[in-house]
Amino acid sequence: MRLEGLNKTFGEQHVLKDINLELPERKTTVIVGPSGSGKSTLLRSLNLLERPESGQYQLAELEIDFAQKISAKQVLNLRKKTGMVFQDYNLFPHKTVLQNVVEGPVQVLKQPKKQAEQEALELLDKVGLKNKAATYPEQLSGGQAQRVAIARSLAMHPEYILLDEPTSALDPELEAEVLKVLADLAREKQSLVIVTHNLFFARQIADKIVFVEDGRIIFDGEPERFFNEEQENARIRNFISAMT
Ligand code: ATP
Ligand code: MG
Repeated sequence: MRLEGLNKTFGEQHVLKDINLELPERKTTVIVGPSGSGKSTLLRSLNLLERPESGQYQLAELEIDFAQKISAKQVLNLRKKTGMVFQDYNLFPHKTVLQNVVEGPVQVLKQPKKQAEQEALELLDKVGLKNKAATYPEQLSGGQAQRVAIARSLAMHPEYILLDEPTSALDPELEAEVLKVLADLAREKQSLVIVTHNLFFARQIADKIVFVEDGRIIFDGEPERFFNEEQENARIRNFISAMT
């Protein structure tokens, strides 16, 4: 997917400033940067949870011009191609784990229920939670809940999975379970876009690092270059040393 000339304001505040960005397919892009720099706004724009005022957005055959009116059909098509995983999981509390995973495929993709359940069980197995299929979300640990959220997103077969600080609510041990699932997905060439403060993880998993500061992209490239001790940008050097 690709963004060109993206601008987003909240009231007087110019939050995304002329963003040009390629998010490669079948790769893992990690977005990092200081708090308030615009990372979540950027990620949320990718599945139209935020509406930038201007810019072009292209994802496979879909093209959106943010300066034009966006139709409900365009929104739906784009949301089918992008699955969002939130920091606080957003599971349906009154549904079991299995029901959480089959909801989208049955309601939105109109898959037969039996088939959706079969696939949901395979996905739960993949994230290590097949034995929790009948459990309700309140009985899960944070790490388990987040893995269910990832399985739920996978069940929709999106082209990209977008994750906004998927582990920042978790203790290190639970975080590791979730990071392992993401590393597996990256290895299988699922297209991922991850916002994280965990630079160790970013370094391990990223094919590409994007550093956002004050609404602008000031680094876009390979992790080796980002983490290089000779990183020429002092702001980035300071950010890395403060975060690791
Ligand atoms: P963090 O690392 O703390 O999550 P971030 O990089 O994700 O930060 P954003 O959440 O994208 O930052 O916010 C960027 C700026 O836009 C901030 O100044 C924030 O206060 C502002 N902002 C974000 N969402 C809204 C909103 N719905 N209404 C008004 N201002 C907003
Ligand atoms: Mg954020």
